[in-house]
Amino acid sequence: MNTVAEFIKQGWDPAQAAILVEVQKGVTVDAYQEAKVDAARLPLLRLVEGYEAKWPGIHYAKGGSRARKAMEIVLNGGLYRVIEADHNGNDLWQVGNHRCSKRGGWCDCKDEQAPVIVGYGKLCQHRLAVALKTNWLGDQHPELLAYLQPIIEKAPGAFVDLLIERDYDWHGEGNRARVAGYWHHGMSQHVRLTPLEIIPVTLPQFQWVMGQLGWALVDLPMKLAGFTDYYYRIAKGDGFPLDEAVFWHKGRTWQMSDRERMRRFQLRDIAIHLDAFVKSPLYVGLSSYEAGRVMQLHAQIAVNQEQALEVWEALPNTVKQFILENKGVEYAN
Ligand SMILES: [Zn+2]
Repeated sequence: MNTVAEFIKQGWDPAQAAILVEVQKGVTVDAYQEAKVDAARLPLLRLVEGYEAKWPGIHYAKGGSRARKAMEIVLNGGLYRVIEADHNGNDLWQVGNHRCSKRGGWCDCKDEQAPVIVGYGKLCQHRLAVALKTNWLGDQHPELLAYLQPIIEKAPGAFVDLLIERDYDWHGEGNRARVAGYWHHGMSQHVRLTPLEIIPVTLPQFQWVMGQLGWALVDLPMKLAGFTDYYYRIAKGDGFPLDEAVFWHKGRTWQMSDRERMRRFQLRDIAIHLDAFVKSPLYVGLSSYEAGRVMQLHAQIAVNQEQALEVWEALPNTVKQFILENKGVEYAN
């Protein structure tokens, strides 16, 4: 940008130079705004090209494509999500004069030439506009980020369990996941979103959201009762690599975890009372790993007890006396 002095040096009189500086500011702002619009348009154009390559059938017979039309609709703000659901409980969108559903796969428009693809539904300009709108940022998911941010900020525990619904690949459209609620310490049961509030998420989007939050998956997905429900335990900091094998893991079940936990208690119990167990007529079946673990625990417990005794012996008599007089009853219990 030129200053007044520079314009004067170029031969303008001071009044004109001052005007030129002001005009220059306006021009720069316009250029900046245009650059911003282009930046928003570019990822959208990439998606359009991706759709055209994936489904050549979306081109119109007389030229152009339904995806290009859809892009204009999106850029003009010509669509919005309706609060109600369709009669199957799917999302509902108003696109121009037409109504359609992303999950439902249908549109009420008269575009009979639009291809209908298994797993994607009718690919008319209206549903492609919804696809563009909801995939606007591709691997980013600001809506999910906005949903999770306050939850993890106010969660009292070290972790949060996200309730995630998963569908397996039925028709070649790939596995699908939806964030459907959450649980954290202090809650008697998890929060479950209504079907309309549920937030679909792809793996790249989940990776992006976790990256933004600085949180990570810290355990394998935990399978809940039913077909679709999982808990995804997330916590601040590092965790599992969020690759496909981990994200789509078939999941541990509550029963598996419970069995493991009970077995651990059992082994610890045996370790503490090993002498009694050895002498008892009760038979306890242990694998060689478990037997080894019991011996290890037993040794550890013995060491701890010896250490406690050493510490006690080392205490001055006055201190021992004080503890016995004041806390004796509690310690005895
Ligand atoms: Zn349509």
